[in-house]
Amino acid sequence: MSSSIELRDVSQVFAVRGDEDRQLRDFVALQGVDLTVAPGELLALVGPSGCGKSTVLDLVAGLTRPTSGRVLVDGEEITGPGLDRSVVFQQYTLLPWRTATANVELALEATGRYTRAERRERAREHLELVGLTEFAHRYPHELSGGMKQRVAIARSLSYEPGVLLMDEPFGALDAQTRERLQEELVGIWERTGTTIVFITHDIEEAVFLGQRVAVMSSRPGRVKEVVDIDLDRSAAVESDIRSTPEFAAYRHHVWASLRQQPARRLEEVERVA
Ligand code: ADP
Ligand code: MG
Repeated sequence: MSSSIELRDVSQVFAVRGDEDRQLRDFVALQGVDLTVAPGELLALVGPSGCGKSTVLDLVAGLTRPTSGRVLVDGEEITGPGLDRSVVFQQYTLLPWRTATANVELALEATGRYTRAERRERAREHLELVGLTEFAHRYPHELSGGMKQRVAIARSLSYEPGVLLMDEPFGALDAQTRERLQEELVGIWERTGTTIVFITHDIEEAVFLGQRVAVMSSRPGRVKEVVDIDLDRSAAVESDIRSTPEFAAYRHHVWASLRQQPARRLEEVERVA
């Protein structure tokens, strides 16, 4: 199952207190954001800290409403959170007194959709999907950070949402674990076909994961460019795709876009390489 997402001319204004006079004033977090995500697409949203990435995610998750503009999933305006959209956050969100399996089963129970036997089977399947079969009966304190995030991914996918929203989910992990999980996420995405919006401030992570990379600028937050990433990910693990000239060209392009500098044209970089 996979859904489309559309943001049309979305602005988000927060009331914040000024430093000196403590008066409330408007802070424009997002201004005129347009973005479309196709069903089954893996879109990476990259931008500096504070540019409004989480604000975009909160809108799509239905946790907040936009000040103006429209946010649509499958053509329908979002009115609140729903089981059609699931979120994985950076901070670990597992219940410490429940095993990995029991954490996934609890989410399934909350949907009210599945029998006890179905919950058990779905938890098993999805922990297998993230490679945690052997750790299914461990408690969170017995799992590494990377494993905890895999449980969170399994939990999010267990009730088959049309959209998986990920807000810097690997940001707290060490570099090697992060790369490993990036590779596994591509495999999970290919197997499930879920639409994924992956938020990160890491250019390399965005280029590795995204079929397209939406580049955000700050003050006010906007989507300034959407870059098509045409890399052969099926061979990603074997070929160390991050070391290829094509990957470097895309990374440079996104970097230049973020720095607001003219990029060497992608075609030129590819020709030289
Ligand atoms: P990012 O996720 O890209 O780091 P955020 O979306 O969290 O950025 O925040 C964008 C800007 O909006 C920041 O300057 C932040 O301080 C501000 N902001 C976010 N949420 C609120 C809020 N509820 N009230 C006031 N300001 C907010
Ligand atoms: Mg954020």
